[in-house]
Amino acid sequence: MNNFDLVIVGGGPIGIACGLEAQKKGLSYLIVEKGAIVNSLYHYPINMQFFSSSEKLEIDEIPFISNEAKPKRNEALEYYRRIVTSNKLNIHLFEAVEAIKKIDTTFSIKTSKSTYTAKHVVIATGFYDIPNQLNIPGEDLEKVSHYYHDPHFYAQQKIAVVGASNSAIDAALECYRKGAEVTLIIRGEEVGQRVKYWVRPDIINRIEEGSIKVYYKASLTEIAPKNISIASAGKKVTIANDFVLALIGYKPNFEFLKKLGITLSPDDKKLPTYNPDTMETNIENLYLAGVICGGMETHKWFIENSRIHAPMIMNAILAKSN
Ligand code: FAD
Repeated sequence: MNNFDLVIVGGGPIGIACGLEAQKKGLSYLIVEKGAIVNSLYHYPINMQFFSSSEKLEIDEIPFISNEAKPKRNEALEYYRRIVTSNKLNIHLFEAVEAIKKIDTTFSIKTSKSTYTAKHVVIATGFYDIPNQLNIPGEDLEKVSHYYHDPHFYAQQKIAVVGASNSAIDAALECYRKGAEVTLIIRGEEVGQRVKYWVRPDIINRIEEGSIKVYYKASLTEIAPKNISIASAGKKVTIANDFVLALIGYKPNFEFLKKLGITLSPDDKKLPTYNPDTMETNIENLYLAGVICGGMETHKWFIENSRIHAPMIMNAILAKSN
């Protein structure tokens, strides 16, 4: 079958929540995911611990049991995978949505493997696929990464971590504890205020005791194979370096949204247009769900507060058909 009431683009936690809700409400649906189930979470750091407690990450009130109050990445993979398999959700994996066209009232969804039609489309593609860039010379060197996975790799290496939020601070601490020589490069004058409340004192203490070096009000200006240059307090410093982790955030695929005809706010936030009661965009029957709704404000939405998008959208779809 290639024709559905609803096609959901993205099989992250919120795309899955949408599929489950559609199934409960008796709508025919397909989730199309370009990678594995909850692909973004799969690519998170392997030891990552969520800042949310497990019940806040639950969808459809299906209990999420974790060893500690705040679950680890592995437990989240287990939870969301079991939701997909136990409920036999209709999901196609490793199939990317390449283009969506609206012809009269029907959407035509072209993927890397097929073409589908649907009356409604939900875009739940998150923001984790496109890292923000430093835009400096040397950023394309192999030793530079915008994703952090595992601290073991960096043991006995000189690493620079750029950024001051959770991803950067977690990576700096983990790598330090596995024997890396860590230098933090922070644009502002302090460690980010949104860093997990139980992690912030840890990093501040490591900085104060000199275990982790830090440059505040600083920016990386150039990356060379064996060193990096930092501009800090009006001075240029060059230090020896083996690896750079540029963990300065990610952004939604705005080009994809624009091609669909979804308008964005003209300011730096690039907020997509949608009705906050129904999640319907300025294109009729095209909806947004999950963290993509925040535009460049990627901290505004998370699983905790965006899982409700699923029932909101399905109720809106059902209200239209009544
Ligand atoms: P995603 O999980 O990013 O899912 C989007 C999916 O769409 C991906 O699987 C992607 O492969 C797929 N996709 C993209 N483009 C296409 C395409 N063209 N075709 C098909 N598929 C496509 N939130 C919390 O509530 N609590 C936390 O503790 C928490 N910790 C976090 C820690 C980190 C390190 C990060 C980065 C985020 C964290 N968040 C947390 C935020 C939240 O978990 C994630 O952003 C979450 O994954 C959002 O779910 P989503 O379904 O909206 O998007």
